[in-house]
Amino acid sequence: MNMNSRILLVEDDKNLAASLSKGLVEAGYVCIVAGTVSETKSLLYDEPPALVLLDMGLPDGDGSELLHFIRETNAELPVIITTARSGVSDRVGGLEGGADDYLVKPYAFEELLARIRIQLRHSDRVRLQRAVGDLTIDLPSRNASRAGRLLDLTPREFDLLAYLVSLRGEVATRQMLQEHVWNVRSAMASMANVIDVHISRLRQKLEVPGEAPLLHTVRGVGFVLKEDV
Ligand code: CA
Repeated sequence: MNMNSRILLVEDDKNLAASLSKGLVEAGYVCIVAGTVSETKSLLYDEPPALVLLDMGLPDGDGSELLHFIRETNAELPVIITTARSGVSDRVGGLEGGADDYLVKPYAFEELLARIRIQLRHSDRVRLQRAVGDLTIDLPSRNASRAGRLLDLTPREFDLLAYLVSLRGEVATRQMLQEHVWNVRSAMASMANVIDVHISRLRQKLEVPGEAPLLHTVRGVGFVLKEDV
């Protein structure tokens, strides 16, 4: 069971929630059920799911309120809204409110599964492909390109770049690089030099003349990958 299998099912109809949850579990997902707005909020805090299946009509509030709440805290969490209201305005409202997809009740369970798979595949892509400015890195293929130019990186240089990108603008110290990129935990004086040489080579490949600097040295601290300092 991977991280990508937790589904938060927000549904106040107990019978429907039970049958959906049973079906989702049989399909290999971990299913957490919430029946109210407040319950959903606390579950979202506790352990964020991979996807939310959101009923719009809830006893203590409206699904759109939850949608708003979810979008404020997590822009990338896929949300599929389900509603008994078949009105076009409800559906448009849901999508404009940040839902990724919607299903009008009653719907076929097979269709729900298909929609869930599409959303999870899409969020995998978002997770596995990252960008900083005009730099894009693709983790599965281990390709990195800048402004459409494929970077010719050694495996270590790619690891170094991917680690710096994963920090999302936070500074990496040499100690962090040593541990996460070189897997060396103990203090080794010679590592600082190795790291500096790799940083310098990576920078040469990353920034051709005329391109804005991306890989910055933070004097006395370490290195950071971001558009501006
Ligand atoms: Ca309902």
